[in-house]
Formats: sequence, C-alpha cells, structure tokens
Amino acid sequence: MPVQFICPHCSDTLRVPDRHIGERGRCKKCGGRIALVVPPEAVEPYTASPIVETVAPAPEARPATEAQRQYLHDLGAPVTAEATLDRERASEQIDDLKRQRDRTEGPTKRQIDWLRQLGMDEARLAAIQSKAEASELIDTWEPPPTENQLKYLTRLGVSETERASLRSRSEAANLIELRLRDGQSGY
Ligand SMILES: [Zn+2]
Repeated sequence: MPVQFICPHCSDTLRVPDRHIGERGRCKKCGGRIALVVPPEAVEPYTASPIVETVAPAPEARPATEAQRQYLHDLGAPVTAEATLDRERASEQIDDLKRQRDRTEGPTKRQIDWLRQLGMDEARLAAIQSKAEASELIDTWEPPPTENQLKYLTRLGVSETERASLRSRSEAANLIELRLRDGQSGY
C-alpha cells in the first residue's frame, strides 16, 4: 500500500509503496536525494529526510601569485595560459627561465665585484661569459697564491716548479706553514 512522503527539497508529495520505507532514493520530481525515514509517531504524509550530497573537494590548485606572474613577465614568459597557471607550475617555469637567462646573460656587476674581492684578476674577470658561469666561479673559485706568498716560498727554498703548481692561496699558505714547521724541526 502506498504511503505519502513530502520531499524536503521541493515540498512535492510523493507516493511510495510502503515496502520502500527506510530506503534511500531520489525524488521523482526534483531529483533530490532523500531517505524515506519514518520517525516514530509521525503521521502521513511523512516528511522524507534530505540526504546532503558530499562531494570530495578537488585537490586545490593554488593559483600563481601576483609576484610570480610579474616575475614570469619580467623573465619574458609568453602570456598564454597565464590565467590558469598554478603556483607549482609557475615556480617551475620561473626556475627554467632563470636558468636559461643565467646562461645567456652576462655576469652582473655584483658578481664581478664579488669575484674581484675574492682576488680574481681583471683578465680572468673579463673572460666570464654568463651569470651562470659567474655563480659557478663564486662557488668554486679560490684565489691564486699572492706575490708575497710566492716570494716567501722562494726564500723558504721551494722550487719554481713546486711554486707554479700551487693553485690557490690556501694551498700556498699550507705549504708555507709546512715548510716553516719542517725548518724549525730541522734546526
Ligand atoms: Zn523533490
């Protein structure tokens, strides 16, 4: 025998065979999801319970920040698809473009100044082609032995070949220290 339910979504009255009581379904009229629950002591027409659709939220794609967009623009990125650019992709693109730029653009004044401070001579400085090369040199470059170190090593009796093989100031300093120690123990 049919029972009457009121749809909680559209307020329409539904006639449902009583064997469906307790089931879940959709309102024939509005398609809203309902549960045909009959509370104790309820009188017909019963009010069906609404079922709230729980939709798993899509993983949030955070849009690129204004600063990222500006940076990409400054790096000469094409404007296409900028509206849909998310933060992750934006930062990948920035890294790529920066690497590209650093290989093609000349070294900055700051880099050159820094390398000069590290003791690099003008001829070597002038030979630096790119930003990338300069930053590599900043990481790895060691200043060559100073004139004074070389003179001192000559006085300590270090041969010209050995002096010429010294690649850095710290190497020269170590050798000086070693020779002085040897000299002291020799007396
Ligand atoms: Zn309905």
